[in-house]
Amino acid sequence: MARPVVAIVGRPNVGKSTIFNRIIGDRLAIVEDKPGITRDRIYGVGEWNGKPFSIIDTGGIELGDEEPILKSIRMQAELAIEEADVIVFMCDAKAGVTSSDEEVANLLYRCGKPVIVAVNKVDNIGRSDHIYEFYNLGFGEPIGISGSHGTGIGDLLDAIAENLPELADDEYDEDVIRVALIGRPNVGKSSLINAILGEERVIVSDIAGTTRDAIDTPFEKDGQRYVLIDTAGMRKRGKVYETTEKYSVMRAMKAIERADVVLVLINGEEGIIEQDKHIAGYAYEAGKASVFVVNKWDVVEKDDKTMHQFEQKIRDHFLFMTYAPVVFLSAKTKQRLHKLLPVVQHVADQHAKRVQTHLLNDVVSDAIAINPPPTDKGRRLRINYVTQVSVKPPTIVVFVNDPELMHFSYERYLENRIRAAFDFEGTPIRLFTRRKS
Ligand code: GDP
Ligand code: GDP
Repeated sequence: MARPVVAIVGRPNVGKSTIFNRIIGDRLAIVEDKPGITRDRIYGVGEWNGKPFSIIDTGGIELGDEEPILKSIRMQAELAIEEADVIVFMCDAKAGVTSSDEEVANLLYRCGKPVIVAVNKVDNIGRSDHIYEFYNLGFGEPIGISGSHGTGIGDLLDAIAENLPELADDEYDEDVIRVALIGRPNVGKSSLINAILGEERVIVSDIAGTTRDAIDTPFEKDGQRYVLIDTAGMRKRGKVYETTEKYSVMRAMKAIERADVVLVLINGEEGIIEQDKHIAGYAYEAGKASVFVVNKWDVVEKDDKTMHQFEQKIRDHFLFMTYAPVVFLSAKTKQRLHKLLPVVQHVADQHAKRVQTHLLNDVVSDAIAINPPPTDKGRRLRINYVTQVSVKPPTIVVFVNDPELMHFSYERYLENRIRAAFDFEGTPIRLFTRRKS
């Protein structure tokens, strides 16, 4: 389901990324094991009063250093107007209303979308008087917040939640597999899409997606219906920000959210780079099934070990995604292309699979018998009951005597036993530990 989008706009240094990070909070990825990646993040998921939304920090999307700041700010506002359902216009209480704030306000007036003025750096009550001048921007009552202290964030989130639109629930039937292709520029996304659609026995239909700006491509092969998500977003439409890397990452993330299966394209000729890791990490975090597709396999010089070595490299780089299968192919020559859709279908099945409770408990009982749970300060973890509570991705709750006694390594062990018994290839599994004696 597509989530409504909230965008934060405003001059540099008003505190946009501080607030962005507070809103996405503890959802920060566990896959982001390298410092620096989080700082770069511009797209995340928030939730308030049970209403989920995506949030963009437009300040993270910049034109080159040589461009004037005002041009960047203007670009960010345009992007927010285009992408967002609700806009948070952030200002700085210490600086007061500046001419660039007025400039941004001018752009936002005409957009017809809800705009919430958040005045940051209201660090003490003494400064809360300063927020009234921000009424002059013309968007109603400003909300005073402090990113440093975390005050006012609840009020801001209330205002955001009140303005979120209700979005249509599901755009496609349950049995349609929604596929997103992601990867850096020139990895061969468009070529692969064309290759898939040009394959024998693929029937392309021209029903456009119903989601606002998405143009999806539905097709059918061997009785299975698929839809390629938002492939139009990958085409260049000529807006200045569309050439920035951050923008393409953002588009990829939007596509991932709407997908069941994410094809993570890797350039077989050039190998794996950091950006590949970042985007794939998001597919993991979003709980989507994934397949690594190593493209341009036609130009790779190979012997009987090359494929195995390349797969090993993928495993080393994507430690958190050992479940994802790897397909080697060439979009250009169509070599090995026929292997792809059956894998997509298989991982989609695993992603949507529900295992019966008694089968799950049998496997976990055996696992406990082979390798008993650890003790901590003389107390032993006792697992009472295990049940799968949802699908896409498979989510399993482990009821125990005391969740504190569950260690990461034991959780991993259980997950591995569950995978060994029930496959679950290509999909992340969510395990939650809850108290119940
Ligand atoms: P951005 O450029 O709009 O994304 O702004 P940042 O989030 O990077 O923040 C700019 C500076 O303002 C940083 O030094 C922050 O630590 C600081 N800052 C953020 N929020 C507050 C706040 O509520 N009070 C004060 N005094 N400083 C803040
Ligand atoms: P995108 O930016 O990810 O959509 O990449 P494109 O599909 O536009 O491809 C970028 C370039 O790589 C084009 O010149 C393609 O012809 C080339 N290309 C794509 N797939 C393959 C492939 O499997 N083998 C080779 N040799 N070239 C490819």
